[in-house]
Amino acid sequence: MKDVYTLEDLRQWQAATAGESHPIRLSVFGDPVAHSRSPQMHNPALESCGIPARYCRLHIRPEELAEALRLLPQANFIGTNLTIPHKAAALAMMDEVDEHARKIGVVNTVVVEGGRLLGFNTDGPGLSRAVRSEFGVDLRDLRVMVLGAGGGAGRAIATQCAIENCEKLILVNRTFEKARQLAHELEIFFKGARLLGPAPRLEAVPWEEAALAPRLTTTDLVINATSCGMKRTDPAVLPASILQPHLMVYDTIYTAHRTPLVAAAEEAGARAANGLSMLLFQGALSFERWFNQDAPLEVMRAGLLAL
Ligand code: NAP
Repeated sequence: MKDVYTLEDLRQWQAATAGESHPIRLSVFGDPVAHSRSPQMHNPALESCGIPARYCRLHIRPEELAEALRLLPQANFIGTNLTIPHKAAALAMMDEVDEHARKIGVVNTVVVEGGRLLGFNTDGPGLSRAVRSEFGVDLRDLRVMVLGAGGGAGRAIATQCAIENCEKLILVNRTFEKARQLAHELEIFFKGARLLGPAPRLEAVPWEEAALAPRLTTTDLVINATSCGMKRTDPAVLPASILQPHLMVYDTIYTAHRTPLVAAAEEAGARAANGLSMLLFQGALSFERWFNQDAPLEVMRAGLLAL
C-alpha cells in the first residue's frame, strides 16, 4: 500500500490498488494528510475483526473534494474520514447528514450506503470520551475554554461542550468573528437555570493575553483545537507564563507526544494530554458507524502507539 494516494489514483482505483491483498475501501481525505495516523489504528482493527478491507490516506485538495467524494461509491468504498481542511465544506456535499453533525455544521465521517453519502461527526463525542479517560472528569462539570473555536474541530468540540451542558464555555479564535458567530449559534444551549453569579456562561473572547489571563483563573479545562503546534517549529498557542497549575490542558494535536502546548502546560505545573486519545475515540466511533459493531479499542490503541 502506498503511504498516500491521490485523486488521480481514485479515478482509476482498481488499477491503482491492483495487487493489494485486501481491497482498500476506507480512507482519510486531507490536505495535508501524510501525518495522519488513522491507517495505523484502522488497519489492525479491520484485520482483528476479520473484515476483508483496508484503510489508506488520500491527499485531496479543497478543489478536488466534491469529485473525490462522488468517486467513492463507484470505487466500492465503505466510507471515509475527513480531516483538515474538508470537514465544513463536505457538509453540503452529503446526500444526508445526521442531526448531530448538522448541529455542529461539520462532517468527519462519511458512510457510503446504496450509492449515497451519509455524513456524521465523531469528533465531539470522541473528545468527550478522551477528556474522561485522560483526566477522569466529565465535560458537564467543567468550565471550558476552546482555542480555535472557528475551525472544524473547534466547532465540533464547542458544540459537544454545549450539548453536554458544561458549566461555562469560553470561545476563542484567531479570527474573532468566527468565535462570535459560534457563540451566537450556541446561545440556545445556555438558557438553562445554572447560575455562576454575574459571569456569563457563554462568551466569545478575543485572542489577547489581557482578555485570556483573567478568564484562565476561572477555567478548568483548556482545549487547543487550532492547527498551531502541528509543525515542530510552531510556538505553543498559549505560553507557560499565562497557564496555571490548576488547569487541565488538552491539545487535540497528536503529531508529537509532547506538543508545544503540552510542554508549556507542564512547565506551568498543569496536567496535560495530547490528542492521541481523541483520535482513538473518534476513530472507534467512525468504525462503529461503518460496521455497526463495537470497535476493538485496545487493538486500535496499540496500533496508534506503535511507531
Ligand atoms: P481547520 O478547520 O482548518 O481550523 C483551523 C483552526 O486553527 C482555525 O480555528 C484557525 O483560526 C486556527 N489557527 C490556525 N493557525 C493558527 C495560529 N497560528 N494561531 C491561532 N489559531 C490558528 O482545522 P480542523 O480540522 O479544525 O483541525 C484543527 C486541529 O484539530 C488540528 O490541529 C487537528 O490536528 C486537530 N484535530 C485533532 C483530532 C484528533 O482526533 N486528535 C481530530 C480533529 C482535529 P482562523 O479561524 O483564524 O483561521
